[in-house]
This record gives sequence, C-alpha cells and structure tokens, in this order.
Amino acid sequence: MNIVVCIKQVPGTTKVKINPETGTLIRDGVEAVVNPFDEYAIEEALRIREKVGGVVKVITMGPPQAETALRSAIAMGADEAYLISDRAFAGSDTWATSYTVSRGIQTLGKVDLIICGKQAIDGDTAQVGPGVAEMLGLPYVAWVRKVEEITDSHIRVERLMEEGYDVVEMPLPGLITVVKEINTPRMASLKGKMKAKSAQINIINASSMQVDMARLGLKGSPTQVLRSFVPERKTGGEKIKDELPVMVDKLKSTILDLGIVK
Ligand SMILES: Cc1cc2nc3c(=O)[nH]c(=O)nc-3n(C[C@H](O)[C@H](O)[C@H](O)COP(=O)(O)OP(=O)(O)OC[C@H]3O[C@@H](n4cnc5c(N)ncnc54)[C@H](O)[C@@H]3O)c2cc1C
Repeated sequence: MNIVVCIKQVPGTTKVKINPETGTLIRDGVEAVVNPFDEYAIEEALRIREKVGGVVKVITMGPPQAETALRSAIAMGADEAYLISDRAFAGSDTWATSYTVSRGIQTLGKVDLIICGKQAIDGDTAQVGPGVAEMLGLPYVAWVRKVEEITDSHIRVERLMEEGYDVVEMPLPGLITVVKEINTPRMASLKGKMKAKSAQINIINASSMQVDMARLGLKGSPTQVLRSFVPERKTGGEKIKDELPVMVDKLKSTILDLGIVK
C-alpha cells in the first residue's frame, strides 16, 4: 500500500509575534516543530504499513527549513520524504496550498491512501486535507479517530462526531484527516534518528509538477489579508463584591452609565 502523509512545520510556541508593519509572523528565532496532529497521521500510516505492508511517504510544502520536519518523520519510521518548495509558492492561502500539495502528490506515482492531520495549530483552518482531496478528485473522511479495517480497495473508519461517532466505509484511493484520539505517536528511535540525518530529501519545485502557474502563490490565492494586528489589551475591569441585591444594583447602574442598554 502506498501511503502519503501530509505534514506541516509550525512554530513550537504560542508566543509568536506579528511584525506590525508587514502583518507577517516573525519566525526568526522561533523553534519549529512538526504540527502535532500530523504526528498522529504519521503514526497511523506506520501502523497501517506494519499491518498490510507498503511504503510511507511524507510530503510538506514549505521553505527549505521545513526539511527538518521531514527528517523528524523519517526518524519516526517514514520511508521517503518530499519537500515541495519554490519561491513561486510564496503567499499561498489554503486554496493555493491545497492545489500545490495535490499537484506535488501527483508526482509520487500510485497513491492508495493520503493521511493529514485534523488541522494545523498555527493556521488552524482544517481546510488543506479536504482541499487536497477535492483537487485530486478523491473521496475523504475528516476527523477519523480509528481505522477499523483497511484493504487494497477500501477503508472503514470511525469518524468523531460531537456526540459519539459514525462508522464510514470509503473506497480507496482516498484521504483521511485524523484526530488525536486515534493513537499515541511513537518516539523516534536512535536508529531512526541516525537514518534521518542522512536521509535523502526529494525536492519538488514548480517546474517538476504539472501545474497552472496562475494558481500558485499569492496570485493563485483568493484570500486577501487586509490587516493583521494584536488585539488591544483591555483593563482588568472592576470587581463588585457585596451582598447580592447591592451587587445587582451596582451592576445595573454601571451598565446604564456605560450606555449599553437604556
Ligand atoms: C493570503 C494568505 C497568504 C499566506 N501566505 C503565506 C506565506 O507566504 N507563507 C506561509 O508559510 N503561509 C502563508 N499563509 C498561510 C498558509 O496558507 C497556511 O498555513 C496553509 O494553507 C495551511 O493552512 P492551515 O495552517 O490552516 O492548515 P490546515 O488546513 O489546518 O492543516 C490541515 C492539515 O493539512 C496538512 N497541511 C497543511 N499545510 C500543509 C503544508 N504546507 N504542506 C503539507 N501538508 C499541509 C497537514 O496534514 C495538516 O494537519 C498564507 C495564508 C493566507 C490566507
């Protein structure tokens, strides 16, 4: 079975700052890690390979330093790594990212199953998995919490719902996005880390894919960011501590003073 896992490199901290002039993230000096949900995706791919055999390929679209994320996946046990990287991809929104990742996957030959994380912890949109499936014309199931059965022709999964879960059977090739309930990602072994150091990272650029150049990067992105800003810090407010009727009266007069209600 040919399994492709889509991974994203994300900041390893919530303390990222935004450049007030350009509105972009200040990435300098910020530690980067594999998106945590993608570690569950890698783990599930490895478990499926252990069960039915096959090859696990990891792919990411990002700048050259995203190579580190691919090496982490190799250290966990993935077989091959692909970095989709080109200046033409700069400024991609989720639409252009989904298009580019889908075209990158097309260069990998026969694919049976694509696994993505539920969402990236920085962009947080959860759009890229379903977007990739749509752009490849494949069926998909999002929010998978368990793979019950997998054969060459189909996969049966449990999809997490707000109350309980659905059991869904889908023909392959197809795509799933996974939630953290699905497994516990393994730690990289020493042997894996050694292998990762010297592993070949295959570069896919715009000219090595069959792409419509107009759909790449900023010009292929229908989303326009008008402004990014850090919300103003509000003052702590006033605590009213008293007997209940007194508190209600004070609250009422405060609300009236503010002119929120008449
Ligand atoms: C107008 C605009 C311009 C932007 N410009 C840039 C830019 O110049 N540089 C930049 O880095 N970001 C840029 N972004 C952000 C970028 O579009 C998103 O980070 C990217 O589309 C992924 O979206 P997400 O983080 O919401 O991922 P989600 O959709 O939440 O991710 C879900 C899953 O999809 C897979 N996935 C997500 N991203 C990738 C990836 N890159 N490679 C492989 N698999 C992936 C993973 O499995 C992940 O778990 C821009 C966004 C907008 C709106």
